[in-house]
Amino acid sequence: MHKGIGVSPGVSVGKAYCIHEIFVHPATRRLAQQDALAELGRFEQAREKTGADLHALYQKVASQVGPEQAAIFLTHETILRDPAFTAKMRARIVEHLEPATNALHFVLEEYSALLTQTQDDYLRERVTDVRDVIIRLSGHLSPILSQQEQETSGPLILVAQELLPSQVVALGKREVAAVVTQTGGQTSHAAILARSRGIPAVSGVAGILRHVKNGDVIVVDGSSGHVLVNPDAETESAYRKLQREFFQLKDVLAENRDRPAVTGDGVYVDLLANINNVDDARAATLTGASGVGLFRTEYLFLTHPDVPDEEEQLAAYCEIIEASPNHRVTIRTLDLGGDKTIPYLGHDREANPFLGWRSIRLSFEHPEFFLTQIRAIIRAAAAAQQRGGDVRIMFPMITTLEEMRRVRAMVYRACRRLQAEGKETTQVPIGLMLEVPAAAVSIDALLDVVDFVSIGSNDLVQYLMAADRDNPKVSHLCQPLSPAVLKVLATVIETCNRRNKPVTLCGEMAGRPRAFVLLLGMGLRSFSMSPAFLPTIKDLASHVTTDAAREIVQHALRLKTTNQVIRYMGQQVERLAPNLRVLDLA
Ligand code: PEP
Ligand code: MG
Repeated sequence: MHKGIGVSPGVSVGKAYCIHEIFVHPATRRLAQQDALAELGRFEQAREKTGADLHALYQKVASQVGPEQAAIFLTHETILRDPAFTAKMRARIVEHLEPATNALHFVLEEYSALLTQTQDDYLRERVTDVRDVIIRLSGHLSPILSQQEQETSGPLILVAQELLPSQVVALGKREVAAVVTQTGGQTSHAAILARSRGIPAVSGVAGILRHVKNGDVIVVDGSSGHVLVNPDAETESAYRKLQREFFQLKDVLAENRDRPAVTGDGVYVDLLANINNVDDARAATLTGASGVGLFRTEYLFLTHPDVPDEEEQLAAYCEIIEASPNHRVTIRTLDLGGDKTIPYLGHDREANPFLGWRSIRLSFEHPEFFLTQIRAIIRAAAAAQQRGGDVRIMFPMITTLEEMRRVRAMVYRACRRLQAEGKETTQVPIGLMLEVPAAAVSIDALLDVVDFVSIGSNDLVQYLMAADRDNPKVSHLCQPLSPAVLKVLATVIETCNRRNKPVTLCGEMAGRPRAFVLLLGMGLRSFSMSPAFLPTIKDLASHVTTDAAREIVQHALRLKTTNQVIRYMGQQVERLAPNLRVLDLA
């Protein structure tokens, strides 16, 4: 049995499918002598296609962002055409009879070893570029799903280092029953994607890719974080029983979709969805959300072959608004950097990327690019308004009052320019994502310049606790139920309520039963979460009164340690809604 962090609840038993960064055939088979030249031809074709991709990327990025930012793709083309690289590949394929993907894997290892040893920072950073080029090349050589996998039916359990947005896109409509990753934590990409699809997931299972191969039977318990590979018949059957219970409970809860979300004493709570794409928007409608509280626009950029221009963004936003419940959507501007990068906005290695050049800080450095997004959002909001929609804009990782003033000015400027061009505009409510402790401390001053607040607890917790949200080694610290976090949340919610500023919480904790009861007791009435959690939370809300929640918070706020809070809240949720046990995450 392997142990990781349970990040999306439920149990799945199924066939494993491993995604290696570069797929290397497990048996590292050799080519037959007579096939070597054909394999070399295949490599050369892939190289040409990669070259064409890079060239197109250069042109689009140069025209939309700037030639300086696009220069990275010229570097990548140089690497692709590097004679030493090509010679190495040729030798491996023709002389050593290695399939092209295996050859790529070994060449990458060789370069990585060489470049990481050098004292030269510039050369060390080129490892990332070599990796990018090689991964692009391998994408043309072997699709993420082999032909055979695409043709066989049945859901797969994905096992990967970390699940990249591009890999998720490549999986297409293929049904995924669970996800296991070697890195990551509660709030990493894979976890968020799994939750948005409502499938069990476990992150941070060190070395799992060495122990699983395609086709192995694998059990994933997304609540306890356990992963079992080829279990004995008895264990497998016990887990299959749990899997059936999980599905039954999901079916029962799905029936509450059209019921209003009210607490046991009849207080309305706004249950919104966090979405990354149009499929999630549809899922939000299907699970009975009343709107979208967080649309993470970076996925549009991360999964786009180059850069979406203003018209493309406008079309994408309109499509999402159309598919969303009540056409009610809060759109968050680009939140890149940290663990999510796109090469054309620069990706110099930083000692502390999460404390560095990410999110709104990065957007400010590319004002034209940023303005294009703001313009597309305003235009989408204006179009939606005519059809009764309600669109708001919010800005991630705001730290100071000056930053908030600056984004407000940018929104006004974008509006004026659009009006001058004769385009429809509307007054879009402007919100702040509260993710930085400094903003929590100065919340009173910030409220003067915002129309609403959305608490991004995933980041707020990592910054308050100084514990990386994606690093399994410090996940015991990065805990939303820690006494320090609860104190800050209680103060922020109380301040917003006192000042009559709408406040939502859109971090992952909103969908966790134990945290939900606490937030409700603190006076929060608006929650945004992965669509998959909505039915559970709606059911839980109906079992708790606001008075009971307030009493529970008063007790919880007196507890001194995270474990005490977790245990106490486990007992409370068990008492209030024992039916939800399979879905509760610690
Ligand atoms: C957050 O930080 O809580 C949040 C919702 O944003 P993200 O998870 O995209 O950083
Ligand atoms: Mg965040």
